[in-house]
Amino acid sequence: MRPDIPLDQSPRPVRLVVLAGPTAVGKGAVAAWIRKHRPDVWLSVSATTRPPRPGEVDGRHYHFLSDEEFSRRVADGEFLEWARVHGRNRYGTLRAPVERVHAAGTPALLEIDLQGARQVRQTMPEALFVFLAPPSWQELVRRLVGRGTEDEAEREARLSTARVEISSASEFDVVIVNEDVQQASEELVSLMGAASTMAPQTPDSGSSQAIRSECSQPQAMQDETAPVQSPSA
Ligand code: 5GP
Repeated sequence: MRPDIPLDQSPRPVRLVVLAGPTAVGKGAVAAWIRKHRPDVWLSVSATTRPPRPGEVDGRHYHFLSDEEFSRRVADGEFLEWARVHGRNRYGTLRAPVERVHAAGTPALLEIDLQGARQVRQTMPEALFVFLAPPSWQELVRRLVGRGTEDEAEREARLSTARVEISSASEFDVVIVNEDVQQASEELVSLMGAASTMAPQTPDSGSSQAIRSECSQPQAMQDETAPVQSPSA
Protein backbone atom coordinates (compact mmCIF):
# COMPACT_ATOMS: atom_id res chain seq x y z
CA MET A 1 0.00 0.00 0.00
CA ARG A 2 1.23 3.48 -0.83
CA PRO A 3 2.59 5.14 2.33
CA ASP A 4 0.79 8.43 1.75
CA ILE A 5 0.51 10.70 4.72
CA PRO A 6 -1.66 13.79 4.84
CA LEU A 7 0.45 16.91 4.45
CA ASP A 8 -0.89 18.35 7.68
CA GLN A 9 0.73 15.41 9.49
CA SER A 10 4.21 16.14 8.16
CA PRO A 11 6.71 15.47 10.92
CA ARG A 12 7.89 19.11 11.06
CA PRO A 13 7.39 22.36 9.23
CA VAL A 14 9.73 22.66 6.30
CA ARG A 15 11.09 25.91 4.95
CA LEU A 16 13.91 24.97 2.59
CA VAL A 17 12.80 22.79 -0.30
CA VAL A 18 15.16 21.30 -2.86
CA LEU A 19 13.38 20.50 -6.12
CA ALA A 20 14.93 18.14 -8.63
CA GLY A 21 13.61 16.15 -11.55
CA PRO A 22 14.44 15.22 -15.11
CA THR A 23 14.87 17.57 -18.02
CA ALA A 24 11.70 19.18 -19.39
CA VAL A 25 9.55 17.89 -16.56
CA GLY A 26 8.52 21.47 -15.83
CA LYS A 27 10.80 22.55 -12.97
CA GLY A 28 11.31 25.89 -14.69
CA ALA A 29 7.57 26.33 -15.20
CA VAL A 30 6.93 25.51 -11.54
CA ALA A 31 9.62 27.99 -10.48
CA ALA A 32 8.13 30.63 -12.80
CA TRP A 33 4.64 30.03 -11.38
CA ILE A 34 5.93 30.42 -7.83
CA ARG A 35 7.92 33.54 -8.77
CA LYS A 36 4.79 35.10 -10.18
CA HIS A 37 2.17 34.01 -7.66
CA ARG A 38 4.06 33.52 -4.40
CA PRO A 39 6.37 36.48 -3.70
CA ASP A 40 6.61 35.21 -0.10
CA VAL A 41 8.72 32.30 -1.39
CA TRP A 42 12.38 33.01 -2.09
CA LEU A 43 13.85 31.37 -5.20
CA SER A 44 17.54 30.77 -5.41
CA VAL A 45 19.12 32.14 -8.60
CA SER A 46 21.73 29.65 -9.75
CA ALA A 47 24.99 30.42 -11.47
CA THR A 48 25.74 28.71 -14.77
CA THR A 49 28.29 28.62 -17.55
CA ARG A 50 25.49 27.96 -20.06
CA PRO A 51 24.79 30.87 -22.39
CA PRO A 52 21.43 32.62 -21.90
CA ARG A 53 18.45 31.48 -23.95
CA PRO A 54 16.32 34.11 -25.63
CA GLY A 55 14.37 35.98 -22.97
CA GLU A 56 16.58 34.90 -20.07
CA VAL A 57 17.79 37.76 -17.90
CA ASP A 58 21.13 37.75 -16.07
CA GLY A 59 20.55 37.85 -12.31
CA ARG A 60 16.92 36.84 -12.66
CA HIS A 61 16.89 33.43 -14.33
CA TYR A 62 20.57 32.68 -13.75
CA HIS A 63 23.83 34.41 -12.99
CA PHE A 64 25.54 33.75 -16.32
CA LEU A 65 29.25 33.31 -15.63
CA SER A 66 32.28 32.62 -17.77
CA ASP A 67 34.14 29.36 -17.18
CA GLU A 68 36.93 31.31 -15.47
CA GLU A 69 34.58 33.14 -13.14
CA PHE A 70 32.75 29.93 -12.23
CA SER A 71 36.08 28.22 -11.46
CA ARG A 72 37.19 31.14 -9.30
CA ARG A 73 34.03 30.93 -7.24
CA VAL A 74 34.42 27.16 -6.86
CA ALA A 75 37.97 27.70 -5.62
CA ASP A 76 36.78 30.37 -3.19
CA GLY A 77 34.18 28.00 -1.73
CA GLU A 78 31.26 30.21 -2.77
CA PHE A 79 29.02 27.33 -3.84
CA LEU A 80 26.73 25.34 -1.58
CA GLU A 81 26.75 22.79 -4.40
CA TRP A 82 27.69 22.69 -8.04
CA ALA A 83 27.67 20.13 -10.81
CA ARG A 84 28.36 19.61 -14.46
CA VAL A 85 24.91 18.86 -15.86
CA HIS A 86 24.24 16.70 -18.94
CA GLY A 87 28.03 16.43 -19.28
CA ARG A 88 28.25 19.99 -20.52
CA ASN A 89 27.79 23.22 -18.61
CA ARG A 90 28.32 23.80 -14.92
CA TYR A 91 25.55 24.97 -12.63
CA GLY A 92 25.79 25.91 -8.97
CA THR A 93 23.95 27.38 -6.00
CA LEU A 94 25.65 30.28 -4.27
CA ARG A 95 25.98 29.54 -0.58
CA ALA A 96 25.65 32.98 1.03
CA PRO A 97 22.13 33.97 -0.07
CA VAL A 98 20.72 30.51 0.77
CA GLU A 99 22.22 30.54 4.26
CA ARG A 100 20.96 34.06 4.89
CA VAL A 101 17.40 33.30 3.81
CA HIS A 102 17.36 29.94 5.56
CA ALA A 103 18.53 31.53 8.82
CA ALA A 104 15.71 34.08 8.54
CA GLY A 105 13.17 31.25 8.26
CA THR A 106 11.89 32.38 4.87
CA PRO A 107 10.33 29.67 2.68
CA ALA A 108 12.97 28.99 0.05
CA LEU A 109 13.26 26.89 -3.08
CA LEU A 110 16.35 25.51 -4.79
CA GLU A 111 15.69 24.10 -8.26
CA ILE A 112 18.73 21.99 -9.04
CA ASP A 113 19.78 18.69 -10.58
CA LEU A 114 20.16 15.31 -8.87
CA GLN A 115 23.90 15.64 -8.25
CA GLY A 116 23.35 19.01 -6.59
CA ALA A 117 20.45 17.68 -4.50
CA ARG A 118 22.70 14.91 -3.19
CA GLN A 119 25.33 17.47 -2.18
CA VAL A 120 22.79 19.63 -0.37
CA ARG A 121 21.51 16.50 1.42
CA GLN A 122 25.00 16.19 2.94
CA THR A 123 25.22 19.77 4.17
CA MET A 124 21.57 20.67 4.85
CA PRO A 125 19.81 17.42 5.75
CA GLU A 126 17.01 19.43 7.35
CA ALA A 127 15.81 20.49 3.89
CA LEU A 128 12.90 18.71 2.23
CA PHE A 129 13.89 16.96 -1.00
CA VAL A 130 11.16 16.90 -3.63
CA PHE A 131 11.25 15.06 -6.94
CA LEU A 132 9.12 16.42 -9.78
CA ALA A 133 8.11 13.52 -12.03
CA PRO A 134 6.43 13.53 -15.45
CA PRO A 135 3.16 11.65 -15.93
CA SER A 136 4.95 9.29 -18.35
CA TRP A 137 8.19 8.88 -20.27
CA GLN A 138 6.38 9.66 -23.52
CA GLU A 139 5.08 12.90 -22.05
CA LEU A 140 8.59 13.86 -20.96
CA VAL A 141 9.93 13.33 -24.48
CA ARG A 142 6.98 15.26 -25.91
CA ARG A 143 7.68 18.23 -23.59
CA LEU A 144 11.39 18.22 -24.41
CA VAL A 145 10.84 18.12 -28.16
CA GLY A 146 7.96 20.59 -27.92
CA ARG A 147 9.91 23.34 -26.21
CA GLY A 148 12.43 23.28 -29.05
CA THR A 149 15.30 24.83 -27.11
CA GLU A 150 17.78 21.98 -27.67
CA ASP A 151 19.22 20.42 -30.79
CA GLU A 152 19.06 16.66 -31.37
CA ALA A 153 22.41 15.92 -29.70
CA GLU A 154 21.53 17.98 -26.64
CA ARG A 155 18.12 16.28 -26.40
CA GLU A 156 19.77 12.86 -26.47
CA ALA A 157 22.19 13.91 -23.72
CA ARG A 158 19.32 15.23 -21.61
CA LEU A 159 17.18 12.11 -22.07
CA SER A 160 20.10 9.94 -21.13
CA THR A 161 20.52 11.93 -17.89
CA ALA A 162 16.75 11.79 -17.38
CA ARG A 163 16.75 7.98 -17.28
CA VAL A 164 19.25 8.05 -14.43
CA GLU A 165 17.43 10.83 -12.61
CA ILE A 166 14.06 9.09 -12.78
CA SER A 167 15.49 5.95 -11.27
CA SER A 168 16.64 8.06 -8.30
CA ALA A 169 13.15 9.22 -7.32
CA SER A 170 13.13 6.91 -4.31
CA GLU A 171 15.95 8.97 -2.72
CA PHE A 172 13.57 11.89 -2.32
CA ASP A 173 11.22 12.67 0.55
CA VAL A 174 8.30 13.53 -1.70
CA VAL A 175 7.38 12.91 -5.34
CA ILE A 176 5.04 15.32 -7.10
CA VAL A 177 3.75 14.27 -10.51
CA ASN A 178 3.57 17.32 -12.75
CA GLU A 179 0.27 16.90 -14.54
CA ASP A 180 -0.60 20.55 -14.10
CA VAL A 181 1.86 23.35 -13.31
CA GLN A 182 -0.41 25.28 -10.95
CA GLN A 183 -1.40 22.21 -8.97
CA ALA A 184 2.19 20.98 -8.73
CA SER A 185 3.37 24.44 -7.69
CA GLU A 186 0.74 24.80 -5.01
CA GLU A 187 1.54 21.37 -3.64
CA LEU A 188 5.17 22.37 -3.47
CA VAL A 189 4.45 25.66 -1.70
CA SER A 190 2.23 23.90 0.80
CA LEU A 191 5.14 21.61 1.67
CA MET A 192 7.24 24.64 2.63
CA GLY A 193 4.95 25.45 5.49
CA ALA A 194 4.12 28.72 3.72
CA ALA A 195 0.52 29.91 4.02
CA SER A 196 -1.33 28.09 1.27
CA THR A 197 -3.94 29.28 -1.18
CA MET A 198 -5.07 25.66 -1.54
CA ALA A 199 -7.90 23.82 0.14
CA PRO A 200 -6.62 21.60 2.97
CA GLN A 201 -5.05 18.41 1.67
CA THR A 202 -6.48 14.99 2.26
CA PRO A 203 -4.69 11.75 1.39
CA ASP A 204 -6.67 11.52 -1.87
CA SER A 205 -6.80 15.15 -2.86
CA GLY A 206 -3.49 15.64 -4.62
CA SER A 207 -1.12 13.87 -6.93
CA SER A 208 1.85 14.13 -4.60
CA GLN A 209 3.13 11.06 -2.90
CA ALA A 210 4.17 12.42 0.47
CA ILE A 211 6.80 9.94 1.47
CA ARG A 212 9.18 10.86 4.27
CA SER A 213 12.38 8.93 4.03
CA GLU A 214 11.77 7.23 7.35
CA CYS A 215 8.58 5.61 6.06
CA SER A 216 9.49 5.16 2.43
CA GLN A 217 9.69 1.82 0.69
CA PRO A 218 12.12 2.32 -2.14
CA GLN A 219 10.96 -0.57 -4.32
CA ALA A 220 7.28 0.26 -3.85
CA MET A 221 8.19 3.80 -4.72
CA GLN A 222 9.94 2.64 -7.89
CA ASP A 223 6.83 0.70 -8.81
CA GLU A 224 4.61 3.66 -8.24
CA THR A 225 6.71 5.86 -10.47
CA ALA A 226 6.48 3.18 -13.18
CA PRO A 227 4.75 5.54 -15.60
CA VAL A 228 7.94 7.52 -15.91
CA GLN A 229 10.14 4.62 -16.93
CA SER A 230 11.88 4.64 -20.24
CA PRO A 231 10.63 2.01 -22.66
CA SER A 232 14.19 1.26 -23.66
CA ALA A 233 15.95 1.64 -20.31
P1 5GP B 1 18.66 24.46 -17.99
O1 5GP B 1 19.92 24.54 -18.82
O2 5GP B 1 17.57 23.75 -18.74
O3 5GP B 1 18.23 25.79 -17.43
O4 5GP B 1 18.99 23.56 -16.72
C1 5GP B 1 19.59 22.32 -16.89
C2 5GP B 1 19.64 21.59 -15.58
O5 5GP B 1 20.47 22.28 -14.65
C3 5GP B 1 18.30 21.40 -14.89
O6 5GP B 1 18.17 20.02 -14.53
C4 5GP B 1 18.41 22.23 -13.64
O7 5GP B 1 17.69 21.68 -12.56
C5 5GP B 1 19.89 22.18 -13.37
N1 5GP B 1 20.32 23.27 -12.50
C6 5GP B 1 19.91 24.55 -12.55
N2 5GP B 1 20.49 25.26 -11.58
C7 5GP B 1 21.29 24.41 -10.91
C8 5GP B 1 22.16 24.55 -9.78
O8 5GP B 1 22.32 25.60 -9.18
N3 5GP B 1 22.83 23.43 -9.40
C9 5GP B 1 22.68 22.23 -10.00
N4 5GP B 1 23.36 21.20 -9.51
N5 5GP B 1 21.86 22.07 -11.06
C10 5GP B 1 21.19 23.14 -11.51
